[in-house]
Amino acid sequence: MKATLILVGTELLNGGMIDTNSIYMSEKLNSYGISIKYKIVVKDDINEIKEAIEIAKKSSDLVILSGGLGPTIDDLTKVAVANYLGKKLTIDKDDLDRLKIKLKERNIDFLEENKKEVEKVEGATFFNNEVGMAPGMYVDGIACFPGVPRELYNLFPKFLKWYSTKMKLNIDKIYIRDLLTYGIAESLLNKKLIPYFVETGIDYEFLIKDYGTIIRLQYKESNKNLVEKIIKKIYNEIGNKIFSEGNIKLEEVILNKLKERNLLFSVAESCTGGMISSKIVGVSGASEVYKEGLVTYSNSSKVERLGVKEETLKSYGAVSFETAKEMVEGLKTAVGISVTGIAGPNGGTLEKPVGLVYIGLKVNENIEVMKKIFKGSREEIREKTVLCSLFYLNKLLDKGSN
Ligand code: ATP
Ligand code: MG
Repeated sequence: MKATLILVGTELLNGGMIDTNSIYMSEKLNSYGISIKYKIVVKDDINEIKEAIEIAKKSSDLVILSGGLGPTIDDLTKVAVANYLGKKLTIDKDDLDRLKIKLKERNIDFLEENKKEVEKVEGATFFNNEVGMAPGMYVDGIACFPGVPRELYNLFPKFLKWYSTKMKLNIDKIYIRDLLTYGIAESLLNKKLIPYFVETGIDYEFLIKDYGTIIRLQYKESNKNLVEKIIKKIYNEIGNKIFSEGNIKLEEVILNKLKERNLLFSVAESCTGGMISSKIVGVSGASEVYKEGLVTYSNSSKVERLGVKEETLKSYGAVSFETAKEMVEGLKTAVGISVTGIAGPNGGTLEKPVGLVYIGLKVNENIEVMKKIFKGSREEIREKTVLCSLFYLNKLLDKGSN
């Protein structure tokens, strides 16, 4: 079964608002075994909404619209649906009474314009909106929901339950496997994995993220063994580039390992100015293993807080292998990261260009220092440094446990 989503709202087309409703709906529909044929974004215009419905109807069993159910002049979705179906819009007295009560509860005066919110295409079914005014509506293979996300979240699960019963859907959920990779170019990934992507029916995708690439495989839940077989082959081929699965973040993976092994962790940051710490603290429960993060930005701070030798700074400079090493050695926990680099855009030299970063890593007596040259803006260089340092710390943790 296929659905097409129509996202209604001029603001979604002019850069004023990001469409998140379709992401939410796609996931929910997938979990009912309904796949998405198209997503169409249209402005608040009756003809264009109608046109989108026409396109959607040709290829999909179910057409779902979000947005444009409100009382204002730009809310035209139901008029477009009625127009498309050649049906009238009516108002049930019960629906109107219910709306009046809701408005009163919220101390909002009833205006004639509010009536629009309970207009119903002839023969449609309404779904009660518990967190807003406009109900959801279904008629002849077309469903409409408000654009406000929390209202959609309230209505959509109810609708799906109702719809799957009505259509006697034999739910074969969609099975999705995401493998998160770092440090391998998309083209090389493609080359290495294409020989394994031969089974038809499975969707194979590469999703580019700021930290790397997600390899996504999806198929029907009933065929999950087939997917798992391929996942095994992928691990054999490029397992050393995979740092996590699903939506588990790298910092979570690291913290879990630290907790399992009862190791304390701290960070000394220069050019990243606390960004690594911030990622770590973003994981709930980090306090069990995370001791401290020092932003040792100046030379004197590196000396005073971490015991970096004045001589080292003088001979090799703050951005150097030696300084990164002494920084990480100066941390008082078993596990640590240090970073020192030139984030730019100024401050680079021929010998030490913008983007040069040294990362120190420590897991017990294992100490590694790596040199990297990242490209990009100041912000990008700092972000790449964070990801790189976490990725290699994770690797070093694995080394330590083998
Ligand atoms: P209401 O009944 O509250 O007026 P509505 O159905 O008329 O809702 P819109 O007016 O189209 O909905 O959108 C209301 C708000 O919902 C928008 O300002 C926007 O913040 C949000 N919104 C609309 N569409 C989307 C979308 N596709 N993704 C995320 N947010 C959206
Ligand atoms: Mg609108």
